[in-house]
Amino acid sequence: MDHKKASAKRKQPVRPGNLLVITGPSGVGKGTLVQKLKPRVDKLRYSVSVTIRAMRPGEVDGESYFFRSRSEFEDMARQGAFMEYAEFAGNFYGTPRGWVSEELENGVDVILEIEVVGAKQIHSQYPDAVMIFISPPSFEELANRLRNRKTETEEKIKLRLEKAEQELQEKNVFQYEVVNDNLDEAVSNLEHIVYAERCRMLRA
Ligand code: 5GP
Repeated sequence: MDHKKASAKRKQPVRPGNLLVITGPSGVGKGTLVQKLKPRVDKLRYSVSVTIRAMRPGEVDGESYFFRSRSEFEDMARQGAFMEYAEFAGNFYGTPRGWVSEELENGVDVILEIEVVGAKQIHSQYPDAVMIFISPPSFEELANRLRNRKTETEEKIKLRLEKAEQELQEKNVFQYEVVNDNLDEAVSNLEHIVYAERCRMLRA
């Protein structure tokens, strides 16, 4: 067999999936964007986080989040079960390590939809992670969206808005910024980022 035929027959090793981190302030629409993105892209999965916050109406354990008690969460953290975790507005949230690593090894892209502190932890531990910041068109619009969602008390909304102010100041740490003004446009921008990252030369 000549060299050309031999190399054509050699199986390409599986390219590991990309770890895509979608971050940005609460209420900016990260969840909606991810839901709209999923059916548009193949080989892309969403990591379900673990949280200790109370379940909201309509949420399903194992789909929206894995809802756990504080002590269960602390046990998982001690055992190193999280890729990252953070406290946000009085609750803990964490990304399960095992499932994400397995999907990436199988060549599947994985989306983490997380807040900024956790995103920065991922950025320092996984330098190849694709870091995407979702911005609101304005701070006023963000406040409107949080209030219209009607999932939080006014006190909790104030906490989330204070946090959002800090988070918006940190957006320059990330590689991409997608402004969620027009939803379709924002989803389309995300889709292009996912495909562009699949064409990136692998770093050694
Ligand atoms: P919510 O309570 O509105 O569902 O989420 C509050 C914030 O926590 C959102 O910004 C959401 O993206 C973030 N979040 C959800 N899961 C995780 C996680 O696993 N880790 C971190 N660091 N943040 C998360």
